[in-house]
Amino acid sequence: MLKENLEKVEKNIDEACKRAGRSRDDVTLIAVSKTKPLSDVEEVQSLGITEFGENKVQELCDKYEHIATPVHWHLIGHLQTNKVKYIVDKVVRIHSVDSLKLASTIEKEAVKKNVDRVNILIEVNVAGEESKFGVSPDETEDLVRQIAVLPHVHICGLMTIAPFVDDPEDNRPVFRTLRELASRIGAEHIENVDMNELSMGMTNDYTVAVEEGATFVRVGTGIFGARNYNI
Ligand SMILES: *Cc1c(COP(=O)(O)O)cnc(C)c1O
Repeated sequence: MLKENLEKVEKNIDEACKRAGRSRDDVTLIAVSKTKPLSDVEEVQSLGITEFGENKVQELCDKYEHIATPVHWHLIGHLQTNKVKYIVDKVVRIHSVDSLKLASTIEKEAVKKNVDRVNILIEVNVAGEESKFGVSPDETEDLVRQIAVLPHVHICGLMTIAPFVDDPEDNRPVFRTLRELASRIGAEHIENVDMNELSMGMTNDYTVAVEEGATFVRVGTGIFGARNYNI
């Protein structure tokens, strides 16, 4: 089942890249394994996937510790400052940085753990949903400038979680806004800041996100099937 799911997702990404005239190499698929057993991660890994996403620190650490062959872990969910120390040396990206306080804690813990550089993305709440974390588009550049001075923290781009919608087309403006914001901030050439990465698109809307320039898509349900939070 995972194999068929993954093939379908890969095919959809391929086709979206073709429609947008983009190279498939410019889009990285992150398999979001939250709530799913390690055996599922290992199966998807055996099918060639190297990037995995988790939204909880504890779950990421558990899987990190027990997996037989290492993968690249991406923290994609809200991160509390008191938990930074557990993951700062275990992840290839933190996608969900939305405050100077969090970034400063990452800086401090990176130094403690001898990590030269922690790669992060700034989470932007493009649609202004109250239930969501993330900085507003208007505040993004200021936050980027404040974080840029932290020597062990490197901003690689922006991330957003788009609203839940029935028609993924409704999220196209959200993805486009994120891309335009990244391109505006990138044009400022702020030292220690890259704006090359856009983490956007989930199971419901990743093809639209790819068409709008996503470099990371975060797909959970589309690969692993529906999640059961009651077990
Ligand atoms: C769970 C989650 C995803 C994946 O969601 P699906 O709809 O299952 O693909 C992507 N991004 C974040 C931040 C998540 O928490």
